[in-house]
Amino acid sequence: MTTMRPSYALVPALAALLSLATAVAFAGEAALEPVDSGADLREDTTEDADSRSAEVAAAAEQFVEPAETPSVVPLADAVTTAGNLPASLRILGAEVAPGTSERLSWAATELFEGVPVSTPVLVMNGAMPGPTLCLTAAVHGDELNGIEMVRRVMHDIDPEDLSGALIGVPIVNVQGFRRGSRYLPDRRDLNRYFPGNPNGSAAARIANSFFENVVSHCDALVDLHTGSFERANLPQIRADLRNPDVVTLTQGFGSTVILHSTPGVGTLRHAATQAGIPAVTLEAGGPLQLELGEVKHGVKGIETLITSLGMVKRIRLWGDPEPVYYRSTWVRADSGGILLSDVSLGSTVRKGDLLGTITDPMSNARVELRSPYAGRIIGMARNQVVMPGFAAFHVGIQTDQSPAEMDAAVARDDETSANDGAYIDGISE
Ligand SMILES: [Zn+2]
Repeated sequence: MTTMRPSYALVPALAALLSLATAVAFAGEAALEPVDSGADLREDTTEDADSRSAEVAAAAEQFVEPAETPSVVPLADAVTTAGNLPASLRILGAEVAPGTSERLSWAATELFEGVPVSTPVLVMNGAMPGPTLCLTAAVHGDELNGIEMVRRVMHDIDPEDLSGALIGVPIVNVQGFRRGSRYLPDRRDLNRYFPGNPNGSAAARIANSFFENVVSHCDALVDLHTGSFERANLPQIRADLRNPDVVTLTQGFGSTVILHSTPGVGTLRHAATQAGIPAVTLEAGGPLQLELGEVKHGVKGIETLITSLGMVKRIRLWGDPEPVYYRSTWVRADSGGILLSDVSLGSTVRKGDLLGTITDPMSNARVELRSPYAGRIIGMARNQVVMPGFAAFHVGIQTDQSPAEMDAAVARDDETSANDGAYIDGISE
């Protein structure tokens, strides 16, 4: 990557942020989400008339203007004391001057149709120096909420007020997006091929081009996703909490659920973090829909992060920190039939509470799904016909473990999950 800008480490300001975030708990168990391999997206996305978004929307309104500025050392201050001056940002063959925004485009060099397919890359270079934060959405082409989050964040901020740079890519997988599909045209999942390979498969080449031309400019990255295949997620950050830089990044999002999740090899989150760019995934809602409550929650979380990083002076922090979970488990269907939920996304449940029922449409036999733990519904399937083994409810279990205890718990969970098929059938991001 050739850039005139100095590379800013996020660590100093994030360390200051750490001292502020005393109440932040840690998430632990792998938050893997099942994917039904082979099942393509359905045309019918009829949504259950649950109250799923209401609670989220209410939470999104809990923003407060703090009475006084918290004692965070802004990252921008930390870097300006080093004598840096704002510099142009050279990316994708363009030079974006300080205090300006440009809409650039990125096109992978290898294309299925032989015709260049380009996608917008929004670049905002702040008037003051600072870190470069990247927002990527629709790596899975059917995940729409993140597209709107990127648009809102990029248009909410004025480059004159910004320290550092924002790079927003609303639709990474433009070919999947056009077809309303999670996948690339060859059914490959782009988010299994990062950082890519210039001599590999088409997916590997696209991943490589994106990683080299865009991601390499980032100092930190937030990859935006939704649940997959008729499942929706409560807005949540998924992060590898064994990585201290990633842990610090998670603490900037304010009142958002944080789940420990070891990133799969090939995911953008994994590849970026491996390259020294702390990265997290923000999951919110489900695929093929634009859900305003989830979008608002995500935007507020990202804008809180931007503020926490000292990239804007405006202070926008969450009011009540939301409980955070370290342990999570999926409740699966043991029989096939019609799944009807008795809970909503975000519901608090006790051990043994009824989550939903599965009814065989022929025999009328009815099976109940009950929560194995006390916790909260952080992900769930929409009402639908399911097969045995289908993951229906994702139950998050709150913890107040310290980071040291977390490490031990995570290591144990990883050992367990390696032998547990339940965790191996894929993740949503
Ligand atoms: Zn995804």
